Amino acid sequence: MTLGRLALSRGTVDRVTERRTDKAWLDAAWADPRTRVLVVNDGRALIRLRGGDILLRDGWSTGGQARDGQGSAELVFRSPVEAPADAPPEAPEGARYLLGQDADGTVYFGMHGELPARGAEPAGTKVLSLRAVGALLGDRDAGLMTHAVALDNWHTTHTHCPRCGTATVVEPGGHSTRCPADGTEHFPRTDPAVIMLVTDPDDRCLLARNAAWPERRFSILAGFVDPGESAEQAVAREVHEETAIKVENVTYLGSQPWPMPRSLMLGFRADAPAGQQIRVDDNELTEAIWFTRPELLASLEADEMAIAPPVSIARRIIERWYGAELPS
Ligand SMILES: [Zn+2]
Repeated sequence: MTLGRLALSRGTVDRVTERRTDKAWLDAAWADPRTRVLVVNDGRALIRLRGGDILLRDGWSTGGQARDGQGSAELVFRSPVEAPADAPPEAPEGARYLLGQDADGTVYFGMHGELPARGAEPAGTKVLSLRAVGALLGDRDAGLMTHAVALDNWHTTHTHCPRCGTATVVEPGGHSTRCPADGTEHFPRTDPAVIMLVTDPDDRCLLARNAAWPERRFSILAGFVDPGESAEQAVAREVHEETAIKVENVTYLGSQPWPMPRSLMLGFRADAPAGQQIRVDDNELTEAIWFTRPELLASLEADEMAIAPPVSIARRIIERWYGAELPS
């Protein structure tokens, strides 16, 4: 069983990377009224919700993942003339992020801008975060919003040259910046993080509760890759640091961008040899427990615990081990 369709690893639009530096092509695309602009701000965008069966609880969608490529929610785009235009495209506030081009020729841009205040959204729409709506969007829109949010999170926090501190200028396609003082070029950063299913010889799954999480929320272990470390080394180190469990046979499962604000989640599984005692790192975890499949299902059905929502790779990895979808 594979991880299946990861909610934020979808996307149907060609990124046309060769156009990112083609100023004439970008200007022509921006002048075309068919061009679609997605305004993003702090990981959020304006979303049109279709059908009345969508539950959004605590900012998380509790419905399943969009299955037909269509989705039960869709992005609300603007045309270029409706896009925020109070700053030149070289400035971070006016930057246009080329997201790509559809098979029908439609060009998509992301842009930073103001979104309607809560309660002031147009009828049938809502300002929602990628985390809340990612699994409800269709394939095209999930890819576009993930791309736009990732770029926007980088631009809004990387406005100056890391070498000399001068304010940088955004390059035409919005995928890099340049320092006008020393000429250095800077590219969006992505932080690799590992997330891993650890099982014991009885095929029980190790789930833990992070001290910073809401009550009852459990998940598999995760952590950032250290400088100068492989992803596989990070898996073994993080599991040992957090639970004192040593693992072997670390194998890769799949990946999903998680631009909140800039991670790439690399999914793994690993075996924990028998005869080990869990000792949790009190700074990170409150508890870590081995679960059998019936124990996990019973805890979820009794509402004694909650696992991550369908948008997350954590849930897909847990379901891969469980062998079926789990109740929300
Ligand atoms: Zn500089």
